[in-house]
Amino acid sequence: MQLLQNVSLKPYNTFGIDIPAAHFIEVSSVDMLPAVTDATAGMHRRVLGGGSNVLLTQPVTGAVIYNNIKGIHKDKEDDNHVWLTVNAGEVWHSFVMYAIANGWAGVENLALIPGTVGAAPIQNIGAYGIEAKETIESVTAWHWEDKRFYTYSNFECTFGYRDSIFKHQLKDKVFITSVTFKLNKKPSFNTTYGAIEQELHKMGITELSIQAIADAVIAIRTSKLPDPKQIGNAGSFFKNPTIPIAQFNNLKQQHPNIPSYPVDAQTIKVPAGWLIEQCGWKGYRRGDTGVHEKQALVLVNYGHAIGSEVWQLSGDILQSVEDKFGIVLEREVQVW
Ligand code: FAD
Ligand code: NAP
Repeated sequence: MQLLQNVSLKPYNTFGIDIPAAHFIEVSSVDMLPAVTDATAGMHRRVLGGGSNVLLTQPVTGAVIYNNIKGIHKDKEDDNHVWLTVNAGEVWHSFVMYAIANGWAGVENLALIPGTVGAAPIQNIGAYGIEAKETIESVTAWHWEDKRFYTYSNFECTFGYRDSIFKHQLKDKVFITSVTFKLNKKPSFNTTYGAIEQELHKMGITELSIQAIADAVIAIRTSKLPDPKQIGNAGSFFKNPTIPIAQFNNLKQQHPNIPSYPVDAQTIKVPAGWLIEQCGWKGYRRGDTGVHEKQALVLVNYGHAIGSEVWQLSGDILQSVEDKFGIVLEREVQVW
């Protein structure tokens, strides 16, 4: 175990922000955790996975615990399901591809989401009509203060829309070490969302499969989203807001084209990307930071942006959306 000092986090975040961490330690096995806990006693500990959902705005004074715990284990199976425990440092997309290669369904719509398996429960990652919570059976985590492991059931994780207990009561209190998934041997396909069906048609797919769905999702994502290896970004910077129906009806009178998706009997989801675009931000550039030209929900770093510039831009966007629509956006990205 090596506790490093003053380490640049530039290679460890997809925004490509160059900020140092005062202390940095890589964890490759759960057995290391008691010693890591002692070595970082008294420090603010933050776990870092793929760094694809963080914005670094100031030097990290505490300890960054870099998660590199690998391994996938099949726990059990029956005629319909398989239960897998996946260690937190596995790359999410590799896990999706592994499941598909074995014919296990449930995560194919979540192909190509960057980051680690351990971070998937944090914001209950979601895309194309599917959320991670639909396949997560439980989450195991090391509790820094209690110095022991806990296993949280799906219910205990209190998953919500891009949300979970790990963003609230357990924020920076635990290191998620593994996630147990229940995948389906008999798939039920979900292709109704967005452009999936159109893409499958374009690809000439006549027989549906989980591989075909993943291929379609990969093709759509590759055509729309900036590749962090080329342009720094952390995916959607803001959450899609959900607003009361009465508020939506008022907005609809002023903005008849406003897109919407019902959430429940009282609330409606409005795509944040549309709101931001209507405020004129799409393709906007300020120095080395800006708003992606194809997707207004994604803020980008064209090269040497610093975290505070991205933060400032996100604040200006927030304000203009509030001024125009009366909706207060919430940042999805974790700001350090
Ligand atoms: P990190 O960025 O390293 O960490 C994120 C937060 O989780 C931090 O607060 C960190 O402290 C905490 N954390 C990470 N790992 C652990 C752990 N093991 N234990 C405790 N805390 C931990 N998200 C979606 O939901 N849907 C998408 O479709 C999507 N598309 C994206 C596309 C692009 C191009 C990019 C760049 C991002 C996208 N994201 C998407 C966001 C991101 O990929 C996910 O949030 C992902 O789960 C983050 O994983 P990570 O390992 O990079 O987490
Ligand atoms: P899109 O298909 O252009 O749709 C725009 C927004 O409308 C999405 O954010 C989505 O909300 C909502 N939407 C579209 N069709 C819907 C439906 N049938 N039912 C309910 N909501 C619907 O979005 P996109 O930007 O290309 O992204 C595609 C998917 O990838 C989305 O699910 C998005 O969340 C996900 N994604 C997430 C991130 C991230 O960092 N979080 C980054 C890129 C892509 P939802 O977001 O709630 O699905």
